[in-house]
Amino acid sequence: MDSNQIRFAVFLGVFSLMLALEHFLPRHPRVDSKLRRFGINLTMTGLNIVLVRLLFGTAAVGAAHYAGERGWGALNLVELSAGLEILLAVVLLDLMIYVQHVVVHYVPLFWWFHIVHHSDLDLDVSSGLRFHPVEIMGSMALKIALVFLLGPSPLAVVIFESILNGMAMFSHSNVRLPLKLDRLLRLLLVTPDMHRIHHSVEVRETNSNFGFNLSIWDRMFGTYLAQAARPQPEIVIGVPPFRRREEVAFFKLLLMPLLRGGSGRRPQGNNGAGT
Ligand SMILES: [Zn+2]
Ligand SMILES: [Zn+2]
Repeated sequence: MDSNQIRFAVFLGVFSLMLALEHFLPRHPRVDSKLRRFGINLTMTGLNIVLVRLLFGTAAVGAAHYAGERGWGALNLVELSAGLEILLAVVLLDLMIYVQHVVVHYVPLFWWFHIVHHSDLDLDVSSGLRFHPVEIMGSMALKIALVFLLGPSPLAVVIFESILNGMAMFSHSNVRLPLKLDRLLRLLLVTPDMHRIHHSVEVRETNSNFGFNLSIWDRMFGTYLAQAARPQPEIVIGVPPFRRREEVAFFKLLLMPLLRGGSGRRPQGNNGAGT
């Protein structure tokens, strides 16, 4: 199995599992058509996969091979067991994703691309795949730079990317986990209830729970919010400037950073700092 096959197997496995769980154990009532949103979110992810392949080729895994052959990066300078090296790489790359997520919320230019992710009117397994292509390209460039600095093995990068993809689908899923299980998992991981708070229209809630895989960063840096003001099924999902279905159609999403709502309304997800 090559790295793409491993990633695709993880994607398909987690996607199907969460889809089935969403059907039998939904947590939040829908306001938009699931089929319509799936069409948009999966088309967006297909476009992103093609663009990454065209612009970055073998991307972060290729960068890890390249760094390894030349002895670049901190992890290539020290002797560690394979297990410890993978663990360190996964945790440090996850910290980078957390920091990046905080930055895209507070820098207006970046927020206008990230808002595409937040504009989904419902949250489910497909939302974890919905990102503006520019945000994905920027994030890939940053990841490649970090791979050069950190020097993880190609295997560590494949493991990290598979975990990130699987966890993104899990944490965005509309699944009702038993509360005790949610509390237990949250000690270490981001759960669907925890990430749903991040997708609330309330600014204080949007600017909390930035983690993607590990929940420890939010606790460590004071951005953790255990509960939203409303009970989970009543959380209003989305961003205030884009609350109508026609405003979040596929091509509108691609143009969203340019149009910025069209009506001059400012985004609320970054303390109103948007331009
Ligand atoms: Zn966000
Ligand atoms: Zn999200």
